[in-house]
Amino acid sequence: MFSYRHAFHAGNHADVLKHVVLLATLRHLMHKEAGLTLIDTHAGAGLYRLDSDFTDKGDEARDGIVKLMGALRPASGQPAASAAAVDDYLDLIAGFNPSGQLRVYPGSPFVVHSTLRAASRDRLRLYELHPTDSRTLSANIAQLEAGRTVSVHREDGFAALRPLLPPPPGPGGSRRAMVLIDPSYEIKSDYHKVSACIQESLKRFPTGCYLVWYPVIPRPEAHDLPRRLRTLANQSQRPWLHATLAIGQDPSHGPDDRPGLTASGMFVINPPYTLKAQLQEALPVLLNMLGRGRGQGQTLESAG
Ligand code: SAM
Repeated sequence: MFSYRHAFHAGNHADVLKHVVLLATLRHLMHKEAGLTLIDTHAGAGLYRLDSDFTDKGDEARDGIVKLMGALRPASGQPAASAAAVDDYLDLIAGFNPSGQLRVYPGSPFVVHSTLRAASRDRLRLYELHPTDSRTLSANIAQLEAGRTVSVHREDGFAALRPLLPPPPGPGGSRRAMVLIDPSYEIKSDYHKVSACIQESLKRFPTGCYLVWYPVIPRPEAHDLPRRLRTLANQSQRPWLHATLAIGQDPSHGPDDRPGLTASGMFVINPPYTLKAQLQEALPVLLNMLGRGRGQGQTLESAG
């Protein structure tokens, strides 16, 4: 427990997929005036230095956001063809790096915060259990001076979710919520906790928008999780969307090198109806820019 630090992985291909899907989802949800309850059950530290000791060790952003930004926003030369959802995401990242040098990567709390409406009743609730990351998250959020709009809790995000659903009604009486569940899966039981959490959440609040990130790795639990989520969504007769991105093997790696994470997926229950078309355009761009060898690919399936 607590050996995982997201700072080693910030801005990698998995963050790129997760945050492109998250941002595109939020953009759509924000079209409706009614306030939203936004819950990030596994928030991380919020902001990451891409030039710190942490990221030097893994250097994972180099095969993620750094590569993507270099290809689509080159300092000189012609940018490669992009997609609207990818452009929107790159604009967001560029906003955190006004010097033009990629030094800071915003995690999910800051991706979500960037979309909150000033005069609305949107509320963002962040859960992070790691003592250091939770302290860092609190300090990063304090800088926003967001008052009651954003709250940070050093609590188990799985357990915290249940009493938050259904969310409180807005002034017009409608209840709206988006939940991001993004554990580190460093303990095997996380896979079961995610599906149990979704099962319970769909009972308590069937119309919520639920986003789950998971690693695509050769482990039975990881393989079963998207199947289980699909079954739960189908049983509740809710629409779903499932996107994966695999960047493939690093060609510079030898046969004895550990491959690291090469693929991940996002499963969305009650996705915005616009999300599929956006990802049909965005996923090939991400693959084209980030794909690096054997095993690369992308998939997109949906129902409802
Ligand atoms: N969502 C973040 C983002 O996209 O920037 C990254 C989150 S990282 C993958 C997972 C985080 O969950 C880690 O910071 C870890 O310390 C934290 N964590 C692990 N178990 C938790 C739990 N039960 N409740 C809340 N946070 C937890």
